[in-house]
Amino acid sequence: MNKIEVLKYLHSINKEVEELSIKVWDNPEISEQEIKSANLFRKILKSHDFNITEVDGMPNAFYAEYGSGSPVIAVLGEYDALPDLSQRLDTKFNPAVKNGPGHGCGHNLLGGAALGAALAIRKYLEEAKISGTVRFYGCPEEETLVGKVKMIKAGAFDGCDLALSWHPMSVNSAIKEAYLSNNSIKFKFDGISAHAAASPESGRSALDAVELMNVGANYLREHVIDKARIHYTITNAGGAPNIIPKEAESWYFVRAPHRNDVQDITKRLFKIAEGAALMTETKVEGRVIGGCYELLPNNVLFELTHKNMVEIEPPKYTDEEMKFAKTIQETLEPAMVEGEVKKFMSVDRDRKLYMHQDILEKEKIDAIEISGSSDSGDVSWIMPMNLFITACWPLGVANHSWQATALSGSSIGLKGMMYAAEVLAGMMYDLLNEPELVKSAKDEFNKRTKNAKYVSPLK
Ligand SMILES: [Zn+2]
Repeated sequence: MNKIEVLKYLHSINKEVEELSIKVWDNPEISEQEIKSANLFRKILKSHDFNITEVDGMPNAFYAEYGSGSPVIAVLGEYDALPDLSQRLDTKFNPAVKNGPGHGCGHNLLGGAALGAALAIRKYLEEAKISGTVRFYGCPEEETLVGKVKMIKAGAFDGCDLALSWHPMSVNSAIKEAYLSNNSIKFKFDGISAHAAASPESGRSALDAVELMNVGANYLREHVIDKARIHYTITNAGGAPNIIPKEAESWYFVRAPHRNDVQDITKRLFKIAEGAALMTETKVEGRVIGGCYELLPNNVLFELTHKNMVEIEPPKYTDEEMKFAKTIQETLEPAMVEGEVKKFMSVDRDRKLYMHQDILEKEKIDAIEISGSSDSGDVSWIMPMNLFITACWPLGVANHSWQATALSGSSIGLKGMMYAAEVLAGMMYDLLNEPELVKSAKDEFNKRTKNAKYVSPLK
C-alpha cells in the first residue's frame, strides 16, 4: 500500500467514521460524563482488532493500540461537549434541549478524525508488515482542561514516541504556537462570624478578604506582561447580610503564553491573598486545583504537517453547503467575518468564498491566535507533538458558539473532519516510512526541554 492507497482505504470507511461522529454530536456529554461517547469509540476500535487499555481512575479515558514495535505514534481524540450549547442542525439559534449541552468545540469531529486516521494506519500496518504501533487516545475532560493532565500523571502516555493532534476551526492551517498556559486556583478565606448589627466589632469577614484580594489582583494587572490574563469569580460570598461571613471563596484563572509566566504570576497572586488575609485578620488557603501548559513547538512536525496539508487536497463544497455557510455567517457581527476574511483570504479573492478552501501560507500562520488553553499542551511537553486546524465552519464563526455547534453536525464539519483524518494518516504514513523524521522530531524536543522539564500542574 502506498500513501494514496491508504487514503483510498480511508475514503472507503468514511461512512463508519461519519456515523460515529454524528452519533456523538447527537448525544452531547460534558466533561466527566462522556460514558456513551467513549464506549462508541471503544466499540469501533475493538471491531477493528485494536487492543484497549483503560486508564486507572478515569472511566472515560483509554487508549487503543494496533501494531508492534517502534515508532509508537499517539493520535489524540476527544469527545466532550459544552454546557448550554445545545443546537439543532439549523442556520438560526435553535436548541435541541433547553439549556442542554452541545458540541460547540467540534470534539465529535476531533475524535472522529483521529479515529479514522488510526483505522487507516491499522490497515496499512497489517498489509505492510513493518515495525510500528498506532495508538488512538480517547481523552475525556478537555473542556475542563484536565483530562490529559490526569492521563499523563497516570502514565497513560508512557512508551509513546510522538503525538499528533488537530482541532476544528475556520481555517486550514498547520500551527506552530498555540494555547495559553494556565493555572486554576481556589482561595478559601476563614474569618470569625458575628451578628453584623449587634456586634460587628467581634467579627472578621472572610468576604472582605475576598473583595480586598480582588482589588489587589486588579492592581496587579498593570504589572504583568501584556498577554497575561487574570480572571475570577466568587464561589462563596457568605449567606445573609446580617451575618458576618466566616467563610468565603474565590476562583481564579491565571493565563499566559508561557508556563514560567503563569507560575510567576501565581506566586504573586498568593502574596496578594496573604495580604488580604493580613488586612482582615482572616486565614487563607490557596489551592492550585489544575493547570496546563502551552503548546511546545516542534518545527520538524510543523513542516511535516504543512507538507501533508499541501499534498492532500482540502475539501470542496456544494452550492447547498455554501448557502448554509453564508446563512450562518450572516448571523455574525460583520466585523468578525471581515476580520477573518482580511487575515486569511487573499485580497483579490472573491468575497463570495465563505469557507476557507486553501492551505494558509506559512507567512500568514502567525495571524492565527489560539488564545484558549488546552490540556493537549501538556502532551507536547512530554513528547514531540504537532497541531493543525481545518475549516469546519465558515470564517468568522468562533468556537464555543451555537453556530459552531450547528456546523459540527453538518456535512461541512464532516468534510473538515475527513480532511483532518487524511492529513493525520498521511503524516503517520511518512513517520512510519522515514525513521529519520521521528529521530529529528525527538532530537528537537530534547533540545527544547533540556532545561525545562515538565512538572505536572496537579499535586
Ligand atoms: Zn476544543
